[in-house]
Amino acid sequence: MTLTIRNVEVEGRAGLDVRIADGRIAQIGRRLAACADEIDGRGGALIPGLCDHHIHLFGLAARADSVTLEGVATASRFAARIAAATAAKPAGAWVRVLGYHETMAGELTREALDRLAPRHRLRVQHQTGSLWVLNSLALAALGEGDDPPGLERATGRIWRGDAWLRTRIGAAPPPLRPVGARLARYGVTALTDASVTTDADAAGRLAQAHRAGALPQRLTLMSGGPLDAPPDGAFAVGPVKVLLDDHALIDLDDFAGRIAGARAQGRRVAVHCVTAAELALSLAAFGLAGAGPGDRIEHGGVIPPDAIGELRALGLTVVTQSAFIHERGDRYAAGVAAEDLPDLYRCASLLAAGVPVAGSSDAPYATPDPWLGIAAAVERRSAGGLAIGVGEAVDAATALDLYLDDPAAPGRARRRVAAGEPADLCLLDAPLREVLATPSSERVAATLIAGRPV
Ligand SMILES: [Zn+2]
Repeated sequence: MTLTIRNVEVEGRAGLDVRIADGRIAQIGRRLAACADEIDGRGGALIPGLCDHHIHLFGLAARADSVTLEGVATASRFAARIAAATAAKPAGAWVRVLGYHETMAGELTREALDRLAPRHRLRVQHQTGSLWVLNSLALAALGEGDDPPGLERATGRIWRGDAWLRTRIGAAPPPLRPVGARLARYGVTALTDASVTTDADAAGRLAQAHRAGALPQRLTLMSGGPLDAPPDGAFAVGPVKVLLDDHALIDLDDFAGRIAGARAQGRRVAVHCVTAAELALSLAAFGLAGAGPGDRIEHGGVIPPDAIGELRALGLTVVTQSAFIHERGDRYAAGVAAEDLPDLYRCASLLAAGVPVAGSSDAPYATPDPWLGIAAAVERRSAGGLAIGVGEAVDAATALDLYLDDPAAPGRARRRVAAGEPADLCLLDAPLREVLATPSSERVAATLIAGRPV
């Protein structure tokens, strides 16, 4: 199967043709010979397809069939959103609400949710994704026994309970095809799913969606436990994911033991680090167990200045999500001491210090659109217009680069549009300089994975 993309800009050179054969770039040059399938690039830039280095695919798929709390800032608005959601479903049905934060209506409890939804099985997820709060009907529907350690029946709270909830609720998994299509529209050709809950069953479902073309992007999967790669390469096995919770940090020796366990599986380690305390513990654990290229700090939500040298010395990559500055910046500014604001979701200072940085969405907890992440990395402004850590701003070309690395080496191996490379490509509707002046996914004209338009 061959395809020629005519008249594109490649790495700053305009007017080139790119011929693709057997899923790879076969030739780049001027006025290449005619072939059966051709795409007119109209002078647009042809860049490597984007990689989202940290995403949660099932979470993103589930969001499509949930109630979200965007725009909710008060208890009365929260109540109104729940009322509208329950009114749309028959009594006894499950209602799933995503994106809660205490600033909306305080600490949620089972009783508070009973008052809001007395006839439905209601569950509300905290914005961090680590906590669900259930009403009494929802709790009763889960049955008794085998309670996971994070479940508090009295308050209706369940920490890190997604896997257990899934087995108890038993609903059909949400479809992945809309997620694959949406990400393809953004020019995304590779995904690293960072879910700690991924087991053989979940990985099998993602692999099946990939084989069926529903999720055409190349997949790398993290997991909390062991995971085997399928022989057909439907996904690659990524780092072992370690989750830390500030309310129950694990013991340093236990942490170092988990790193050793990952090494025994031949895998790197990716640690969820949002707070300064989580980062300090992670640096200590990597210091103890040893670290190297491929080990990752996910989020790097707060990085105090004195941690930067340690990150660099340990060879850790920071996988950041600049879109949080835009989407949650106003709340951060209200809840974080002014002198700590520059520590939030650092980017420029890490790159300047030689710390590898990669870009990602953490969708569904922030937008899955990488172009909004690029814009946020450049602007460093909250939705309300506050400037946050402007010293961490990077130019748009640098921000785009955060999404162009090989998924196996985020922050370390920039992919290129060159002969012999896989034809995982993003065609833009204008030269790169013009697109980067106002980054937007609307500038994506076509996305190809292994040479096939998706
Ligand atoms: Zn995440």
